[in-house]
Amino acid sequence: MSDLKNFDKTPEERDIAHHFHAYTDARRHEEVGPMIIESGQGIYVKDNNGKRFIEGMAGLWSVAVGFQEQRLIDVVVKQMRQLPYYHNFGHKTHGPAIELAEQLIKLAHVPMSKVFYTNSGSEANDTVLKMVWYRSNALGKPEKKKVIARNRAYHGVTIAAASLTGLPNNHRSFDLPLNGVLHTLAPHYWKEGQNGETEEQFATRCADELDALIQREGPDTVAAFWAEPVMGAGGVVVPPATYFEKIQAVLAKYDVLFVADEVICGFGRTGEMFGSITYDIRPDVMVMSKQITSSYVPFSAIMMNDRFYQPIADESHRISTFGHGFTGGGHPLGAIVALENLAIIKERDLVANAKETGTHFLNRLHTLSESPLVGEVRGVGLIAALELVDDKAAKSVKVAGKLGRLMNETMQRNGLISRGMGDAVAFCPPLIITRAQADDMFEIVARSLREVEAEVG
Ligand code: PLP
Repeated sequence: MSDLKNFDKTPEERDIAHHFHAYTDARRHEEVGPMIIESGQGIYVKDNNGKRFIEGMAGLWSVAVGFQEQRLIDVVVKQMRQLPYYHNFGHKTHGPAIELAEQLIKLAHVPMSKVFYTNSGSEANDTVLKMVWYRSNALGKPEKKKVIARNRAYHGVTIAAASLTGLPNNHRSFDLPLNGVLHTLAPHYWKEGQNGETEEQFATRCADELDALIQREGPDTVAAFWAEPVMGAGGVVVPPATYFEKIQAVLAKYDVLFVADEVICGFGRTGEMFGSITYDIRPDVMVMSKQITSSYVPFSAIMMNDRFYQPIADESHRISTFGHGFTGGGHPLGAIVALENLAIIKERDLVANAKETGTHFLNRLHTLSESPLVGEVRGVGLIAALELVDDKAAKSVKVAGKLGRLMNETMQRNGLISRGMGDAVAFCPPLIITRAQADDMFEIVARSLREVEAEVG
């Protein structure tokens, strides 16, 4: 076991010396150093100074059942002893992979047919894009290859997934997005809605823009549309009323597939088992990760209907194999953890807790709307955000990102880990959070907001 204390340098110095961090300004890291988390229990984590934090983001939107869940630990140990690894190449399989595929298909709210396993949300989205292309070739429509995602979408960071992502920092200096990956309007009514436009009118405009984009590109060239039911990393953007109904009507008109990225919303986050249920989405493909294993083990899965699967199966037969797959895809440890994790979500009714406790927390957040710094409070289930502004009427900030960063840092000092995304701060705690713990979390948010108000005058 690694012992961080047994060296002549501090762990902070050693981290700075050798650890290149994800999503971090590398030069700033050399100055400010790391935050080292040593342990977790329930909704809390502790750093190496013994300070306890509410993990208000469930790690990265993902630790549904909380930290140190003994049942997940036990199934891993048992599976490690029996079969620590196997794969699903060339007709091979194992019990946990079979059982999980069956369970996921049963959980789906629309008829689904097959599950393909991957290791991360990005890998899953990459794989779906390859499948979309493969399928169009199978159907004899090689020109039908373009795909559409939304501005501010987050679908991951591999080359295809980062292309689907609609955030500038995932493209800038990476020479992305790939050709043929297009973006349309983000469904953020507060930000994008025009003067006098109702939420429904805004939703109509979003659908009209999508329609116009497909027309401009040529309907025969557009294969699929990607969407998170609730945008996560783009700022917790909850779709406006009627949005997905209108978007789906456009897709149906042009025979465009719907890929629902359920990587954050899946398994209860929005107060239903899937975000697609909350917003009445009938996807052809669902991408799942994060909460599927509570992120105890890296794991992801793609669930697809027959309309998507059958042409791909035919093509694999024609070629003699489906030339795609990952060494770790369907890993027995991930699959067994997913099965136990889903059992816990069901037994403890964590989906209902997300709805009840989430609504309670969101109602409390709404009481902060009076603050001169709060532009918008938004959320659904157990995912929410506060959008901070300097000028409420103009919905504007003086220096982009400053308020979000300040609020985030203040909450962290006060014992709550959140996530700043531009000038929004996000909340996405473990689904096990109780009402009393949600109240504790809210009290830290409210106190931190008062401190930030005092600081910016
Ligand atoms: N899709 C969504 C909606 C996500 O939020 C994320 C990660 O945050 C991903 C895909 C990418 O997942 P990963 O980081 O596991 O590659």
